[in-house]
Amino acid sequence: MDEIAPPPRLLMGPGPISVDPRVLRAMAAPLVGQFDPFMTATMNEVMDLYREVFDTDNEQTFLVDGTSRAGIEAALVSLIEPGDRVLVPVFGRFGHLLTEIAQRCGAEVHTIEVPWGEVFAPEAIEAAVREVRPKVLACVQGDTSTTMCQPLEDIGAICREHDVLFYCDATASLGGNEFRSDAWGLDIATAGLQKCLGGPSGSAPITISPKAADVINARRHVEAGIREASDEAVGRPIASNYFDLAMVMDYWGPRRLNHHTEATSMLYAARECARLLAAEGIDASVARHALHGRAMLEGVQGLGLSVFGDVTHKMHNVVAVEIPEKLGPAGGDAVRASLLDDFGIEIGTSFGPLHGKVWRIGTMGYNARKDAVLTTLAALEHALRTADVGVPAGGGVTAAQAVYSEARP
Ligand SMILES: *Cc1c(COP(=O)(O)O)cnc(C)c1O
Repeated sequence: MDEIAPPPRLLMGPGPISVDPRVLRAMAAPLVGQFDPFMTATMNEVMDLYREVFDTDNEQTFLVDGTSRAGIEAALVSLIEPGDRVLVPVFGRFGHLLTEIAQRCGAEVHTIEVPWGEVFAPEAIEAAVREVRPKVLACVQGDTSTTMCQPLEDIGAICREHDVLFYCDATASLGGNEFRSDAWGLDIATAGLQKCLGGPSGSAPITISPKAADVINARRHVEAGIREASDEAVGRPIASNYFDLAMVMDYWGPRRLNHHTEATSMLYAARECARLLAAEGIDASVARHALHGRAMLEGVQGLGLSVFGDVTHKMHNVVAVEIPEKLGPAGGDAVRASLLDDFGIEIGTSFGPLHGKVWRIGTMGYNARKDAVLTTLAALEHALRTADVGVPAGGGVTAAQAVYSEARP
């Protein structure tokens, strides 16, 4: 067997995306022991950096080891006790995932739904909160399955008024769309690296408000092998050891109570993702995603293609492009295969009600770049032409270039 040698790819799907080379370099840095002063100092730096990324003062801001889903599970299993009522506004695939995980935690889950391609008005969420009186409201911010971005700024106030804990999965949106943990009244938010943060999957940044930390710590159980006399068990134990956020807070906190072995190379990756974001400026990163997202949107429209959903509520970093009717689902797959085989460019397929109907094209993280956008549009034009779809010559690149020249100061 030879050394691993992946083919060159430009990953322009809804995530994962091509990792920033600086993040790959950070991951190749040498390892140190778990309680090495360098390790604990790096963990503290990571906590600081992610406070900036989440726009929060929450002391409890750190990483859950695992993909984004690990962050979601940790948040929900640590908050929810069997029988608790949980409300989930579902506007795409990931709302169904929150529902399923909350159900596995033993919650009585209530959902409200809008058709795919739409978001909720705050009044609809408030009416459901009044009716269900949940302990937890669990909501996705950006759902890559539909590309929609749920406005969150009014929901925290509703949750506070009704004494509801507000959890948000910001995996797809964080770093590329406005996100304000404290100003929007979030109790827990979780994310991943493989979308707008420009890293690989495998680490789930999380931030926990003091109120949510109190709820979780009221269920704190320290493992027998490391327990001291003062570590009396309280409350009903959290139904997972790995995802017990009370234990993980003890591990990242001043006591450094041993829990899992922190995934050091992922810690380095997460640090570099946040360091790059902070150096660029988070508002600047959001503006960059808005610019390249608009260039991609107008570019596909310039090719005569239609865009799915309410584009006024679209995330900046992904667009759902309707597959031309004459292609059908098989033709849609053939275009994706041609992009991958001939150009080394990956775009995304779709799930559920959109399966076979739309392609999803991302412009996020390291790939929210002009050359990546223009190359993808040029290749897409060629692939469509090969599939016998009539497209205006140069229509995609020209429309995108118009966005860029308009944006130039
Ligand atoms: C992409 C995405 C995830 C991904 O979860 P993983 O466990 O990292 O695969 C989760 N939530 C949302 C909203 C996403 O868009």
